[in-house]
Amino acid sequence: MKLSEFIRPATLKEARDVLRELGPKGMPLAGGTALHFMQGKTPVTAVDITRLGLSYIKQDGNYFVIGAATPLADIQRRRGERWAMHEICRRISTHQIRNVSTIGGNICRVFPWADLPVVLLAMGAVMTVYTGKKKEDEVPADEFFASQPARRFAGGDILTAVKIPVLKAHHGFGSVKVSRNAAAFSMVTIAALLELDGGTIKSARVAAGSAIPFPRRLRLVEAALAGKEPTAEVFRAAAAACTDVKWCGQEGMSAEYIRNLAEVSITDALERAAEFARGRTK
Ligand SMILES: Cc1cc2nc3c(=O)[nH]c(=O)nc-3n(C[C@H](O)[C@H](O)[C@H](O)COP(=O)(O)OP(=O)(O)OC[C@H]3O[C@@H](n4cnc5c(N)ncnc54)[C@H](O)[C@@H]3O)c2cc1C
Repeated sequence: MKLSEFIRPATLKEARDVLRELGPKGMPLAGGTALHFMQGKTPVTAVDITRLGLSYIKQDGNYFVIGAATPLADIQRRRGERWAMHEICRRISTHQIRNVSTIGGNICRVFPWADLPVVLLAMGAVMTVYTGKKKEDEVPADEFFASQPARRFAGGDILTAVKIPVLKAHHGFGSVKVSRNAAAFSMVTIAALLELDGGTIKSARVAAGSAIPFPRRLRLVEAALAGKEPTAEVFRAAAAACTDVKWCGQEGMSAEYIRNLAEVSITDALERAAEFARGRTK
């Protein structure tokens, strides 16, 4: 991606107005770490969105709200009860990248290796989008990640925040990222949210990414968990139930190997989620 100009608007409205005017010749710029991966020789004007008050993490009722321009390093550093986002953020690339790369940049243009869309799908997050109206649009993760989100932003709209439901005492969350080394792209990323009701799983949200063309929920795994006890045997059987996923071979590894890796990772993520829930219900 070739940048020709750099604009630093003072307000969200100004940023959107400029982006609308520029059309395909403009783009919001957050950390800028993805420019390297983006094709295109046409010069583009970068509209900086990092000084619009969009970098924060706060709790608002039943949600943690993370500003779209919040660096991954800030999310990684945060600790607190019912907070689980740091786990995946510390597994993304290097400190240097996490210092500048933002949550918005990670999810507005989804690359095959992106980890956060997987976690946000499992958590049932809600994205808030500024469209010029007084009230921002709220887009549930299932809709936001139904296709490449970058298309939604082509007209100048701007992601302002990500709302993550605060985990309740009977919720458990676990994520697994498998990579060749700490800074490498993911070979497979899995995230799981379990809602327990006494000794059984009331509902589950399980998502996968990296080893498939685009992040998605694993509905057959979720269905195989509902109403069952959270045991290792149930988790293994549920992981084996995702027969509708076409896992992609990569970096010299066969599709069959990746499928096996994915099943083991699903089981691990579910076990972590159950552990998390047990810790909460003590
Ligand atoms: C070497 C390397 C390794 C990496 N490894 C991983 C990895 O393993 N897992 C992983 O998840 N990520 C990884 N990343 C990060 C990821 O690939 C992206 O580079 C990063 O998430 C983009 O964030 P950014 O803030 O820099 O976004 P930018 O580069 O500024 O923007 C990315 C895209 O999002 C758009 N955008 C940004 N913010 C908004 C907004 N608020 N509203 C609308 N559109 C917006 C931009 O216009 C652009 O199209 C890696 C990056 C590098 C450089």
